[in-house]
Amino acid sequence: MSGLLAALVMAEACDAVTVIERDALPDKVAQRPGVPQGLHLHMLLSSGLRALEDLLPGVSAELRSKGAPVLDARDLSQAYLDINGRVLCRHGTVSDPEAIRVILASRPLLESVVRERVRSLSNVTILDGHDVIEPTVRGRTVTGVKVGSRCTVHAFEVPADVVIDASGRSARTPAFLEAHGYGRPVEQTYRVQLSYASQLFRVPGGMLHEKAAVISPTLQRPTGAGLLANENGTVILTLIGIGGQRLPADLPSVLEGAARLLPPHICSVLGAAEPIGELHHRRYPASVWRRYDKLTSFPVGFLVVGDAVCSFNPVYGQGMTSAALQARALRKALADNGAPDLSGAYFRKAARQIAPIWHANRLNDFAVTPTTGWTMWPQRAFNAYTTAYMAAASDDAGLTEAFLRVLQGMDSGLTLASPVRAARVLAHSVRRR
Ligand SMILES: Cc1cc2nc3c(=O)[nH]c(=O)nc-3n(C[C@H](O)[C@H](O)[C@H](O)COP(=O)(O)OP(=O)(O)OC[C@H]3O[C@@H](n4cnc5c(N)ncnc54)[C@H](O)[C@@H]3O)c2cc1C
Repeated sequence: MSGLLAALVMAEACDAVTVIERDALPDKVAQRPGVPQGLHLHMLLSSGLRALEDLLPGVSAELRSKGAPVLDARDLSQAYLDINGRVLCRHGTVSDPEAIRVILASRPLLESVVRERVRSLSNVTILDGHDVIEPTVRGRTVTGVKVGSRCTVHAFEVPADVVIDASGRSARTPAFLEAHGYGRPVEQTYRVQLSYASQLFRVPGGMLHEKAAVISPTLQRPTGAGLLANENGTVILTLIGIGGQRLPADLPSVLEGAARLLPPHICSVLGAAEPIGELHHRRYPASVWRRYDKLTSFPVGFLVVGDAVCSFNPVYGQGMTSAALQARALRKALADNGAPDLSGAYFRKAARQIAPIWHANRLNDFAVTPTTGWTMWPQRAFNAYTTAYMAAASDDAGLTEAFLRVLQGMDSGLTLASPVRAARVLAHSVRRR
């Protein structure tokens, strides 16, 4: 996703762009081995949809025309959100529904729509079925990439003035930099130990009213669940384990686990639905931010984007949004600096986009990661306020809207503790007592 969006932006400024992808790319909407996370709960946040629409005007309409359901905040009953053990308000309406509109396309559909738009650009070539081996350099400047075919042993060089690594979390750029005397970027990392178990279902039309359901894991309950309606009457269910929690290995046990979390009417629909394909598991050990913005020297004409720079705990669904925001940072850096001196300008701008997402992600993880010593007290205070907030939000559409705006990346989490909202939360707690 980050590679396609970077290609789109580069195509606005350069004569020719080549996207090199290891997988043989499907010409229809389909899962593929290079993106195994596509088999799990995947949602583009409202803020990401805005950024994507800015990069690819009309993309929302195209996703809808291909059957992606819309989660419309004008009807709060379409979502069942149990956060910190409290179900958010499901009646009433919000003041700005457009800001938190979500289009529930599966990852393969979203990617295929973006890919076909990029493929249709006359100056973009997609070279699939090829492995990038490493960039080629002359002195301190990149000159292209060495590429190997996956079908033959044939290796060759693709010359380029700018090379962008968008190869995801396991990108080899740190090792490449070290081998060429630049030093590896500092890595900020913290353990997440997340596990996912996901099953896709076909649900006959009209059986399920909710388009999204999320039951967040908590300190006391290390398993959560997520359910999203996707295109063509499909629904994805994911059990989420935190702190190394082991998840069931077979579908009946997953459904049993879901039944302990989701409301009975949703579980009975799942019980009667047709499973599509197998149950899939995935683990995610740690969030990592590689600080390319802090490096003092870097090969000229070389950039890194997407998960290769920063891979977030996926449970908050921020990765594709970050990819879109980084693509916009790249567009801005190109406009400000011009291609020859791009790296430093891009890395600084991208870091400004990544930082708020990273800190929000860390804070949320802090709420569910067991702590000892002095950190127990800030954690208790944070969780006590969050629980009180969610309890107040359970019958307050305004507080629910404010939380949804934060969840969808539209506002900072600090807005939930504004004096007005804190007073409403306090008043609600006092009334309950
Ligand atoms: C379980 C899970 C759930 C997630 N859920 C969400 C979610 O709900 N919402 C969200 O926004 N984000 C989510 N994410 C994160 C999201 O998938 C990524 O942030 C997003 O895909 C952007 O990543 P990327 O394009 O940088 O890398 P990737 O998506 O990893 O893509 C890397 C690409 O590079 C190719 N490649 C790798 N090495 C080479 C090579 N040497 N040569 C050629 N090609 C190569 C791969 O085949 C692949 O196509 C989730 C992630 C995980 C793991």
